[in-house]
Amino acid sequence: QEPPAGSDGEGGSGPGPPDSPGPPETPPEPRSGRSAALRARMEERLLGARFRYLNQQLYTGSSRDAAQLFRADPAAFHLYHRGFEQQVRRWPERPVQRIVRYLRRRPASLVVADFGCGDCTLAASVKNQVHCFDLVPLNPRVTVCDMAEVPLAAESVDVAVFCLALMGTNLQEILGEANRVLKLGGTLMVAEVASRFEDIPAFLKAMTQLGFRTVSKDLSSSYFYVLEFAKTGPTRPGPAPGLRLRPCLYKRR
Ligand code: SAH
Repeated sequence: QEPPAGSDGEGGSGPGPPDSPGPPETPPEPRSGRSAALRARMEERLLGARFRYLNQQLYTGSSRDAAQLFRADPAAFHLYHRGFEQQVRRWPERPVQRIVRYLRRRPASLVVADFGCGDCTLAASVKNQVHCFDLVPLNPRVTVCDMAEVPLAAESVDVAVFCLALMGTNLQEILGEANRVLKLGGTLMVAEVASRFEDIPAFLKAMTQLGFRTVSKDLSSSYFYVLEFAKTGPTRPGPAPGLRLRPCLYKRR
């Protein structure tokens, strides 16, 4: 299994498309079985195509566009998640497990906000109070909202998490929202597909403009990077040119 690649890669994949399983290696089937298998394969392909389309929409539009997309078509969201799950399951390690390990090393009294929580694996795996935000409730714990505008008071959380969730193009706004809800000195954890980063030093420099100091960076995996920041103060307005992530776009496999 190749590590995921950015949009400039060949046949790249991040949290990627659903698998289209090849023909099963079984003895010849009766005619009806063959046509059922063919239909299943066609359906799988169609799902793969829809997933790639959705994925492209998510990575090339703002978080607000994503919110609108899923509000209009909740079924699209479930399709997206199915594809996401299938892809990440094949990685050597799930990034969210790294965040779980990190939180377990720290006091359980810390209040956490999980931006783009998906199925709430993080909240289910730690003792901390975790505010879970996503566009559609995959789990009853989810508060449905756009991550650029979460219903939390300013300076009310100790740890903000983005685990494979920095999808919108309005990165500055999204990370500014994390800055707003974080207490001074609070922690921002980012786990993101490695190949999405164009220039890590420039990205980290831009984060200082947003009011974050780099505490640690783990760039050892070819699948995903884990970055830990501390809030040093409010986000400063103005351009932050290094704050760029490549979209994960997929070719048909
Ligand atoms: N953090 C989870 C899920 C990652 S998938 C995990 O690591 O397993 C990315 C998640 O971000 C998806 O659930 C998607 O719905 C969510 N997301 C994308 N754009 C969003 C937005 N604008 N507001 C809230 N959630 C968003």
